[in-house]
Amino acid sequence: MSKEQYHEAMLYEPAEDGKVRCRLCGHECLIGPDKLGICRVRKNVGGKLISLSYDALVSVNVDPIEKKPLFHFLPGTLSLSVAAAGCNFQCAFCQNWQISQAPRTGKVLAGQAVPPAQLVARAVRRGCASISYTYTEPTIFFELAYDTARLAQEKGIKSCFVSNGFMTPRAVRTIAPFLDAINVDLKAFRDETYRSVMKGRLEPVLTCLRELVRCGVWVEVTTLVVPEMNDSEAELADIAGFIAGELGPDVPWHVSRFHGDYEMIAAASTPIATLHRAVQIGREAGLRYVYSGNVPGDENESTLCPRCGSMLIRRTGFAMAANRLDAGRCPDCGSRIAGVWK
Ligand code: SF4
Repeated sequence: MSKEQYHEAMLYEPAEDGKVRCRLCGHECLIGPDKLGICRVRKNVGGKLISLSYDALVSVNVDPIEKKPLFHFLPGTLSLSVAAAGCNFQCAFCQNWQISQAPRTGKVLAGQAVPPAQLVARAVRRGCASISYTYTEPTIFFELAYDTARLAQEKGIKSCFVSNGFMTPRAVRTIAPFLDAINVDLKAFRDETYRSVMKGRLEPVLTCLRELVRCGVWVEVTTLVVPEMNDSEAELADIAGFIAGELGPDVPWHVSRFHGDYEMIAAASTPIATLHRAVQIGREAGLRYVYSGNVPGDENESTLCPRCGSMLIRRTGFAMAANRLDAGRCPDCGSRIAGVWK
């Protein structure tokens, strides 16, 4: 049996003339018979929407949780990190374009069938506290992530997404009971940038973020600061203001350094001064935890107590060097530090 015959997709409905409407991500594709959605990994086969990525993992690694980055979620633990090929965005600066864009270019990445039970068993065997759905976009291998996350929860293993945040609110509500943490890329605060550079839209990402917080999933936000794309003070202030005002001042914001890649291979890297300014803008907006990323050794990688300024978690790159938290509190002033600590 070909894999197209099984693993019916979740979150779709029949439409007129044998078409189906996918409700998984903000594109809400209307897919004709034998056609694929924009992500190229969901296909209408005889009026049934089929996931082509369920049995096709292209990456299974063990990473520190800090690499996601998730800084306020079980620091110092390992996360089994898995990915299937494909994405619902087409970011011109994608750093994993070889696997995220492969289906779009017609490249066949065979992938590996690793059933949920095996993934969970592997996480346990490798001493991982969580499984992360990452590297590409977990939304497009939603069914595998959902089945695995349900099973993982039964075994006491947490689940994390690293996502572009383009899930529909319905998709968020479906996965939320089994999703412990998510890092969402808020890539810009201008809809025209989302449309032209990512081939997406801004509003569904903001809606998804609000819904994640409402559902009680631990949320961290990352913005890759790309020169001349999203690095103006006004736009950075808009992003920081949205996080602080609508998601809450305890939501960590990671501002990451861009290096040229994919269709923007020749573009200049983000100046360190720009990142430091972004950190400052985040703090001025009221965010309590703002981190710089992709700059190993930078002073803004560690967690300080927002009340007394004590060093709480010291990091270098993806390594946690020290953790002074005492049951989630600052050992010096007793302030509670937002996060999932055990
Ligand atoms: S996941 Fe998104 S891009 Fe893929 S078929 Fe569904 S709506 Fe379209």
